[in-house]
Amino acid sequence: MNNADSLCLKSFDPGQKHGPERVALLVANILENADKCKATDVYIEPWLDKLQVCFRVDGVILPSTELPRELGPNIIARLKFLANLLSYRQDIPQEGRITQVDSLEGIEVRVSTFPTIHGERVALRLFRRENRQFILEELGLEPGVLKNLKDAIGERTGAILFTGPGGSGKTTSIYSCLSHIAKTEKTRRHIVTLEDPVEQILEGVSQTQVSPSTGFDFSLGLRSLLRQDPEVILVGEMRDPETARVAIEAALSGHLLFSTLHAGSSCGVISRLLEMGIEPYLLTSSLRLILNQRLLRKNCPKCKGNGCAACNNTGYQGRLLLLEAMVLNEEMRRAILNRADRTTLEEIFVNSGGITLVSHAIAAVKAGLTTREEVLRVLGSADCATVLFSNQGG
Ligand SMILES: [Zn+2]
Repeated sequence: MNNADSLCLKSFDPGQKHGPERVALLVANILENADKCKATDVYIEPWLDKLQVCFRVDGVILPSTELPRELGPNIIARLKFLANLLSYRQDIPQEGRITQVDSLEGIEVRVSTFPTIHGERVALRLFRRENRQFILEELGLEPGVLKNLKDAIGERTGAILFTGPGGSGKTTSIYSCLSHIAKTEKTRRHIVTLEDPVEQILEGVSQTQVSPSTGFDFSLGLRSLLRQDPEVILVGEMRDPETARVAIEAALSGHLLFSTLHAGSSCGVISRLLEMGIEPYLLTSSLRLILNQRLLRKNCPKCKGNGCAACNNTGYQGRLLLLEAMVLNEEMRRAILNRADRTTLEEIFVNSGGITLVSHAIAAVKAGLTTREEVLRVLGSADCATVLFSNQGG
């Protein structure tokens, strides 16, 4: 793979000395290059013989540049200084954020350090505050799903839950829902959020960043927030049973709730909530819609897969939202009340005409929007491979 050309730091000359100013410049350079490549993450890893810098672009890790290993401690010390971390502790993981990068307007960087046997490894996540518009109709949803979603967000109570791994576009989807409520409804609703972190500023929405390290976590934030009479609430993530319980109760008592949960599928969300101790009858009466999503890279329109300068030689450019949307029907409700397992719920979902991630992905491959390899990379289960390849002829 030779993506390095377009991603590397052209101005870096390893022959030069690396004093503090030079290190500061180098760090600024890495961030600027990451921004230019539209990277969402930067990883700086000390290896036995070098310092490897990689970028994550469209969900895929690409090597950016290799630096002399001796530079590692200086670069990491600089990042720790910018993020207010303890630079003298190299033996513990640390987390912080850089709210203002001098050379990059509107970018916030979340910094996470981790000790390895070769030295500290750093992961940087870039959040761009770019006056972006979040428009529900532009998410690329199927007409049926868009209608389900609009119906659900028009309600005054109930929960709309999203699942999918990090970087699968959940925040964009939820922000589009909140913007839709803020901008299109005639009667204004009080919309509030609890987020970690606040990724973009939304007009007409009261946003709060929780800070678990100081004890102001989702659970505490939500309990306090309910006394402020919100009507629409976003709880960034249901991480623990207490947050899930308070959130679901809020969804049953005059609030429209948006939240996310870690689970592999829409049915997995229900199983996860049951495991967290939420009573089945609370779920059947509160859940309006569950959305499970992934982002697939789209074939590059310029080179159609061969690789060109426009796509960093990857053959892909831009991404496609893959979505599984589940509305509870009567059979599903009965199954939940009987605490049916995930497999049973999944059977009911498919038998009642539910579009799964796999079936949506197959349609995208057939339409020439993406490739089988990309689907396998993102969905990556043996089941998925069987389904995809048995459909090869059709
Ligand atoms: Zn291309």
